[in-house]
Amino acid sequence: MPLDAHLAPYAAQGATSRGRHHAEEGSTTRGEFQRDRDRVIHCNAFRRLEYKTQVFVNHEGDLFRTRLTHSIEVAQLARSIARHLRLNEDLVEAISLAHDLGHTPFGHAGQDALNECMREYGGFEHNLQSLRVVDVLEERYGAFDGLNLTFETREGILKHCAEDIALTLGDVGERFLDHTQPSLEAQLANLADEIAYNNHDVDDGLRSGLITLDQLNEVPLFRRYSDEAQRLYPAASERRRINETVRRMINALVLDLIAQSQANIAQAAPASIADVRRAPPLIAYSETARVESLVLKRFLRDHLYQHYQVQRMSAKGRRIIRELFESFMEDARLLPPQYQAKAAADRARAVADYISGMTDRYAMREHRRLFTVEDI
Ligand code: MG
Repeated sequence: MPLDAHLAPYAAQGATSRGRHHAEEGSTTRGEFQRDRDRVIHCNAFRRLEYKTQVFVNHEGDLFRTRLTHSIEVAQLARSIARHLRLNEDLVEAISLAHDLGHTPFGHAGQDALNECMREYGGFEHNLQSLRVVDVLEERYGAFDGLNLTFETREGILKHCAEDIALTLGDVGERFLDHTQPSLEAQLANLADEIAYNNHDVDDGLRSGLITLDQLNEVPLFRRYSDEAQRLYPAASERRRINETVRRMINALVLDLIAQSQANIAQAAPASIADVRRAPPLIAYSETARVESLVLKRFLRDHLYQHYQVQRMSAKGRRIIRELFESFMEDARLLPPQYQAKAAADRARAVADYISGMTDRYAMREHRRLFTVEDI
């Protein structure tokens, strides 16, 4: 595929990609990052995102975000910003859709529990696991393990990484050692993730009744747009006013991100993706929006994620993960056959791969299968 002339000179281009681990012939109809996106959409881990959740467990209600709808929202935000900044839409979409593939069941509680279980065996980190899913765990090709994605998609998936682990990761680990930046598309997918979850957690939090409008009105970013929605639509239902508020918050953050990033890019004047890597992070909020977004994030942490009803579910999730881990470590014969073979080489890692791949409901079912006597 030739260079895309519509893109900015500092955008990532499929034609100049650093390539794939296993050499493959180019497609005559699709660009390299389009192929990456398509591979992500067709993989098993992507379908499992439908039954994995961040804050609310899947059975709690049909209207709450799942990791699948979250990933689609991230891709939507990232693509519309990318188009405006003339960055590579296919690449931000591939990164956005893949960014949560390595998440355990039961959100951050599950990740923390599995990391604790794996402490003596190299730990567990969902971000690293997302990379492991696309590099190693997916079994779709005859010639290689994983999805054989391009370097640019893989570097975007690996948002952060400790230096000792970066040393073991080859090409995608390098930037954590030489302290350079990833592509603007990777930087963008990261911030689109934050805009998506802060705003949909407000929406889901209100829908669940765990947080209230009165509480949220203490958050300046929310208050500004909730006042506006109230003024414009005094007779509208509360639900409509919440939607009018949330979409204004998203829009404000997106417009701020675009304006600040354009200013940063103009100042740094990168002429190529190589210049982007050497520059400081260029995709960023203004200082005002950064602080306002942080205030919202703290509010959600204190009032939603720490809410006792969420904590009770998280505690159950942690217990399920711990007990599954202990059972499989004690007796690898309890693992499904394909994991038994892997457990022979590295039991703890095979168990972590199996557990982290589970959806919320699969983990609960597997736990019942192992711990209850009656037939299920
Ligand atoms: Mg995310």
